[in-house]
Amino acid sequence: MGGSSAAASLGELGYNVKVFCINDSPRRAHSIAAQGGINAAKNYANDNDSVYRLFYDTIKGGDFRSREANVYRLAELSNVVIDQCVAQGVPFARDYGGMLHSRSFGGTQVSRTFYARAQTGQQLLLGAYGALNRQIAKGNVKVYTRREMMDLVVINGEARGILVRNLVSGRIERYGAHAVVIATGGYSNVFFHSTNAMHSNGSAIWQCYKKGAFFANPSFTQIHPTCIPVHAKHASKLTLMSESLRNDGRIWTPKKKEDVERLRLNTLQPSQILETDRDYFLEEQYPAFGNLVPRDVATRACKRQCDAGYGVNKIGKAVFLDFSDALLRLGRDEIEDRYGNLFQMYQKITTVNPINQPMMIYPAPHYTMGGLWVDYNLMTTIPGLYAIGEANFSDHGANRLGASALMQGLVDGYFILPYTIGDYLADKIKVPFTDVNHPVFDETEVTIKDRISSLFSDNRSNSADFFHQALGRIMWKKVGMDRSDAGLRFALRKIEELKSAFLEGIYVSGSRYDLNYELEKALRVSDFIEIAQLMAFDALNRKESCGSHFRREMQTKEGECLRDDISFMYVSAWEFNGIDNPPILHKEILEYDYINIIERNYIL
Ligand SMILES: Cc1cc2nc3c(=O)[nH]c(=O)nc-3n(C[C@H](O)[C@H](O)[C@H](O)COP(=O)(O)OP(=O)(O)OC[C@H]3O[C@@H](n4cnc5c(N)ncnc54)[C@H](O)[C@@H]3O)c2cc1C
Repeated sequence: MGGSSAAASLGELGYNVKVFCINDSPRRAHSIAAQGGINAAKNYANDNDSVYRLFYDTIKGGDFRSREANVYRLAELSNVVIDQCVAQGVPFARDYGGMLHSRSFGGTQVSRTFYARAQTGQQLLLGAYGALNRQIAKGNVKVYTRREMMDLVVINGEARGILVRNLVSGRIERYGAHAVVIATGGYSNVFFHSTNAMHSNGSAIWQCYKKGAFFANPSFTQIHPTCIPVHAKHASKLTLMSESLRNDGRIWTPKKKEDVERLRLNTLQPSQILETDRDYFLEEQYPAFGNLVPRDVATRACKRQCDAGYGVNKIGKAVFLDFSDALLRLGRDEIEDRYGNLFQMYQKITTVNPINQPMMIYPAPHYTMGGLWVDYNLMTTIPGLYAIGEANFSDHGANRLGASALMQGLVDGYFILPYTIGDYLADKIKVPFTDVNHPVFDETEVTIKDRISSLFSDNRSNSADFFHQALGRIMWKKVGMDRSDAGLRFALRKIEELKSAFLEGIYVSGSRYDLNYELEKALRVSDFIEIAQLMAFDALNRKESCGSHFRREMQTKEGECLRDDISFMYVSAWEFNGIDNPPILHKEILEYDYINIIERNYIL
């Protein structure tokens, strides 16, 4: 969505834009999955919202690890995104009087999330896609579908083009440019099981990193509290149950272990457990925010509950998300109106209707706050290379608040990049168009072809999925919700072993000059293995807990994050230093002039 919105706006400004995407249409980008909504400080609910408050909530939500100026600009521009989308015809929910309706998401005490049932991403993407098509028709934008970026071309220190693999013919194609914008989304699929689309990958940002763009805060990855738990050995994707459900759903586990046992044996139904025997642990522990605490806080609380033996499914890794109170208060029609398609999705996957029984949910990898380091203009450390949306690190610090990814992606695409990129391009007016026969294109193509060739050998036997699953197990156990010095060192050793095993054992069937999903997967998995190394390395370096980065050694007595502002109030921006050497750390020190730095607390 970031890419479509940027291309549409750049086209409108008269730039000549080329768009590349893996899917058969930009309309099928992963953003289509976004459910719950998009934030804006409109204050239509008249509940004391303001630009400052959205700015404050976002900085606090990110545990004081994001850049103040960027977040203020994000909050300011949030409102025009809603206006733009309404003008495009995005069918946001409206109240009885016709005003745009809003609801609450985690980490806020106001209603600032605008939504279109649980299909907000799809509707926003359709808006951006419509704007993009307008520019295609005008001839300003050309879209190349079924193309996967394989490498960045850097000539004389500046980004001057890309090479892509045509996913249908298998041919490598060259494209020159005066500037390159990366909008390729996040890398949560490094965990194998995640809520992200199967095509979501970290390869493009990894190629840019290897060409000199710094990678910021790679270990800041978000585990979302409310997902349908893994329930089949070969399941490859997890399904999110939107945070919007926590507006009306209450999270609980039984207070008594014997009830837990009987639930697991299926001799007791949740509805038979007395109100007094239920532990609404989020409401108890965080009375000011209740079920709407931010994701990192809710995730840890669910994990603590399950680790203490109160998990409610057969393997003890689930808590209830219960709508029975809301059904009594609001009635079935209203609840179905609000969440009907999420309920249908849940029922299709689990066969249980959440109207009759509470959902069972468990945390799962969902979003990556880390990404390419960008300056205030969204330019990376390579001149002429920009990164927007989830692909950059910009605004969310150590934890993203719900409904703020769409806000950031569209703010970046519609309202920041189109204006900042001119700062760079203004000097390029006399620079001739990049010649794709330049020797750097030749060298880059040879490297890509060699890499692809190295994956084909008849003497090997393990699939890309085999290695991806193995990587996911290491990452989930040691670089997931609960990190420690020993665990991270163990992970680094295991990932190194896996890397060697991959090189010696990966088997790719089919041909390189054809549609070949196995080859696509193998290339992405090999990048995921290297990204995983950088994530673990960064997590090991950051000897504090903040937001979603929870180091077991650094916690309060309540089990919350213990930040170390003296030593770690910085963005870690890593520079590639050759494949066999450790990366170089650059610190962007964070300074807060307009906000009081406090211990993050959702109790009061
Ligand atoms: C289930 C789910 C629900 C969510 N709900 C919400 C929500 O309610 N509100 C909210 O704010 N956020 C939500 N999010 C997060 C949000 O959807 C994403 O952060 C956001 O959509 C990312 O947008 P993007 O434009 O940066 O990237 P994407 O939408 O991921 O698009 C990336 C594009 O890049 C292309 N691409 C990737 N790699 C390459 C390559 N190498 N070469 C060529 N093309 C490439 C892909 O084909 C794709 O078109 C949700 C996320 C999930 C998983």
